[in-house]
Amino acid sequence: MTNVNEFKGVWVFSEAYDLTLEMLGKGQELANKLKSELVAVLLGNKVQDKASELTKYGADKVYLVDNPALEHFQTEPYLKVLHDLAKSYHPEILLVGSTRNGKTLAARLAERLNAGCVPDCIRLGIDEDRRLVGERITYGGNAIAKIAFKSKPQIVTVPARAFEKPSLQERTGQIMNLDVKIEPPKVEIVERKPLETSSVKIEEAEVIVSCGRGLKNKDDVGLLKELAEVLGGQVGCSRPLAEDRKWFSEWIGLSGHKVKPKLYIASGVSGVIQHVAGIRDSRVIVAINEDPEAPIFEIADYGIVGNLYEILPALKEALRKQIQ
Ligand SMILES: Cc1cc2nc3c(=O)[nH]c(=O)nc-3n(C[C@H](O)[C@H](O)[C@H](O)COP(=O)(O)OP(=O)(O)OC[C@H]3O[C@@H](n4cnc5c(N)ncnc54)[C@H](O)[C@@H]3O)c2cc1C
Repeated sequence: MTNVNEFKGVWVFSEAYDLTLEMLGKGQELANKLKSELVAVLLGNKVQDKASELTKYGADKVYLVDNPALEHFQTEPYLKVLHDLAKSYHPEILLVGSTRNGKTLAARLAERLNAGCVPDCIRLGIDEDRRLVGERITYGGNAIAKIAFKSKPQIVTVPARAFEKPSLQERTGQIMNLDVKIEPPKVEIVERKPLETSSVKIEEAEVIVSCGRGLKNKDDVGLLKELAEVLGGQVGCSRPLAEDRKWFSEWIGLSGHKVKPKLYIASGVSGVIQHVAGIRDSRVIVAINEDPEAPIFEIADYGIVGNLYEILPALKEALRKQIQ
């Protein structure tokens, strides 16, 4: 068993590169508090160029495993490499990007290392006993759990946009090219298809017309698209429409995209805290909901109580006439 004092360094890893960068900022802060080093773990195929960039974003060291077997994410080889690295270099803290793949990886790695794992931490700090303390939303958004670790390594997963990406600096770090033996995975990927995403990032949209579970059928998304087109905006949605119904590939809110358009029209969205967390910086919020008690009206600048199937087409027509 590893002596508790042998655990050193704050590591960050995500197969999603942007998320790795976001975690480097928080990782740096934790490493400074612990007077320790910040390590970025970079796995992939022909990814050497990214290694030096990671040092410019704050990594003191990069553990680079460049191997054709790591070209695309697969749990088995990625887990094997991370496990081997952790067994060899004993990180004190490991921040893993909270993607679906990252969560799978972090939980399995924790089990292999006999370590604790706290998923979806939105805040991270170090307590007076040098322990990592993670905060995560619990009870459907009604409470925040504060969790400290009793053993090491301390593994957490971090959702996208929980922390700011640090600015690029003129600095260098140590890049260690590591060779890890990777066996062929037992699972074969037969096909890969990119997810359909909108060409313009939703965060950059000036007008967003969004829908929630008040929308009954996938084809009805056309109603929102028509209104968005008149306003020169984009269509967005609440999480259940993307995650449960699979009508969209991404959603708005605490665990999705945080947006700040000039105009946000929420139709058939109840307005619970997790959705509101992603839209509260919008300049003007218009809510359409048939329930006058819906929480969305508490934060809306303008509220329309009624059926979205009547209001959206009426709004579209009225605006079209105004614009013409
Ligand atoms: C850890 C965690 C993270 C989460 N992150 C997010 C997140 O990032 N984003 C997110 O959106 N959710 C998130 N959720 C889910 C969130 O808790 C809610 O379940 C979700 O936001 C509800 O979506 P909704 O408003 O579309 O559906 P509902 O809450 O079911 O609301 C539907 C609304 O539509 C209205 N309605 C129905 N029919 C009509 C009609 N014909 N005309 C007008 N109004 C109508 C109803 O009155 C109701 O208010 C998260 C949950 C958890 C636990």
